[in-house]
Amino acid sequence: MAEHKRPTNQEEVDANFAQLHPLMNTSEAYYESSRCLYCYDAPCVQACPSDIDIPLFIRQINNQNLKGSAKTIYESNYFGNVCGKVCPTEVLCEGACVHNHQSVKPIEIGRLQSYATTKAIKKDSKLFTPAKSNGKKVAVIGAGPAGISCACELRLHGYEVDIFEAKDQPSGLSLYGCAPYKITNQEILEEMAYLQKQFDFNIKYDSPIRTAEQLKRLESQYDAIFLGIGLGDTSSIRLKGEDMENCVGATEFIEQVKLDPLSVKVGKKVIVIGGGNTAMDAASECARLGAEQVILAYRRDKEAMRAYDFEYDLAKNVGVQGWFNLQPLEFLGTDTIEGVRFIRTMIENGNAKGIPDSEFNESCDLLILATGQNKQVDFLQKISDMKWDKKGRIEIDPESRQTSNPKYFAGGDAANGGAEVVNASAEGKAAAKGIHTFLN
Ligand SMILES: Cc1cc2nc3c(=O)[nH]c(=O)nc-3n(C[C@H](O)[C@H](O)[C@H](O)COP(=O)(O)OP(=O)(O)OC[C@H]3O[C@@H](n4cnc5c(N)ncnc54)[C@H](O)[C@@H]3O)c2cc1C
Ligand code: SF4
Repeated sequence: MAEHKRPTNQEEVDANFAQLHPLMNTSEAYYESSRCLYCYDAPCVQACPSDIDIPLFIRQINNQNLKGSAKTIYESNYFGNVCGKVCPTEVLCEGACVHNHQSVKPIEIGRLQSYATTKAIKKDSKLFTPAKSNGKKVAVIGAGPAGISCACELRLHGYEVDIFEAKDQPSGLSLYGCAPYKITNQEILEEMAYLQKQFDFNIKYDSPIRTAEQLKRLESQYDAIFLGIGLGDTSSIRLKGEDMENCVGATEFIEQVKLDPLSVKVGKKVIVIGGGNTAMDAASECARLGAEQVILAYRRDKEAMRAYDFEYDLAKNVGVQGWFNLQPLEFLGTDTIEGVRFIRTMIENGNAKGIPDSEFNESCDLLILATGQNKQVDFLQKISDMKWDKKGRIEIDPESRQTSNPKYFAGGDAANGGAEVVNASAEGKAAAKGIHTFLN
C-alpha cells in the first residue's frame, strides 16, 4: 500500500516530494568537511566522471573559502549544483570514499558540492570571464547538460555560441526528467541563469532543428556544430493498445509530473513496466502522487534489473511493489486500458521465456511503459556522412568527440546511448576542447 495522499495543492506536492538531500547549513558543512581525510590520489576523484578535485573543494569549504570551492567545482563541471543533487553518488564518489572501508559513513560529497555552488549562485559570484572574441562561431543543437557545458567551455576560448533548443527552457532532462525529490526546478533554472550570465552564450528557445535545409544553413553560417540532442521518446513495446489514453511512456509521464504535478492523474492502481532507473522514478512519483498501489513489473529477476539498488529502495520506501519474472502479453480494455495480461517467465540461455499456463490478468487505472528511449536516427540521417552504431549512438572519436562529418561534434546521451547528467556535462566540455583544436 502506498503511503502518500493525493496532493491537492503545491504545498502538499512539496511535502510528498520532499528533498532527499536538503541543502546543508554552515555548521553542517563545516562539520562534514572536517571529516574528510584529504586523501592523496583520492579514490573519490577517480570515481568522478568529471574529475572534480574533491579533496581540494572540501578543504576550501573547511577553510571558509567558498568562492574558491565553487570555482574548483565549476572548473571541472558546469552542472556543479545539479550534479551535487542528482548524481548517483552512492555508486560514484561517495561509493569510493575511503571511509567505507572502515564502516564509517562516507563523506557527503554531493551535498557539500551543492552547498558551495549554491552559495556562489545565490551571491552571483563572478567566477569566469569569456575570452575576447576569436571571430569564430559555433552552433550547439540542444540546451541539455551536454550542449550547455559545451557552450560554457567554448566561450572561455572566445567563440560566439548560439544554442538552438526545441523546448522553451534550458537543461534538457535535468529539468524534464530528474526526480523532483532530488532537485527542484527552481534550483536547476537558477544554475542555468547563473551559467548564462557568466558565459554569455545565446539560447534560441522553441527552435528545433528538424530539416536538412536548416542543417545546411547552420553548416554555412557556423564554423562547427555540436550535437547535444539527447534521446527521443519512449520506445514502443509493440503490443496493441499502447496508444490508449491511460498508457503513457515513462519519460513523457515524468515530464508532466515535473512541469505540472497537480494536473497528473494516476488513479488508484498503476502498473509500471520496466527495470531501469526511469521505471523506478516513474513508480516512485506515482506513489507520491497518491496512487494506492504501484506495481513495478519486470520480466527478469530483481538482480537483473538495470536500476541502481538505491533507486529501487527509494521506490520501495514509498510503497512500490516489485513484481519480477513477468512479461506483458496483452493490454486489456477497448477504449482505455483496464489491465495487463502477464505470463510468468523463467530464464533459459540468458533469455526470459514464458512459462506455459502461467498467464494471469492484473487490473490497473494507469499503465506506464519504461521501456527505454528511442535514438534520434531519423534526425541523424539528414546530416551528410554522419555515422552511428547499431544501437543508434553517434560514432565519435573518443578524444576529440568529432563525428564522421568533420564539421560536427557530439556528446551526452546521443553519443553514449544514455547515461547520467555528469557524463553529458563532461562530454560536452570535452567536445568544446575538440572543436577548439579542430578550428585552430
Ligand atoms: C526520467 C529520467 C530521470 C533521470 N534522472 C537522472 C538522475 O537522477 N541523475 C542523473 O545524473 N541523470 C538522470 N537522468 C539522465 C540525464 O538526465 C541524462 O543523461 C542527461 O540529461 C543527458 O544530457 P544531454 O544533454 O545529452 O541530453 P538531454 O538532457 O536530453 O538534452 C537534450 C536537449 O536537446 C534538445 N533537442 C533534441 N533534439 C533537438 C533538435 N533537433 N533541435 C533542437 N533541440 C533539440 C532537447 O529538447 C533537450 O533539451 C535521467 C533521465 C531520465 C529520462
Ligand atoms: S575518499 Fe573520502 S575522505 Fe578521501 S578525499 Fe575523498 S571524500 Fe575525502
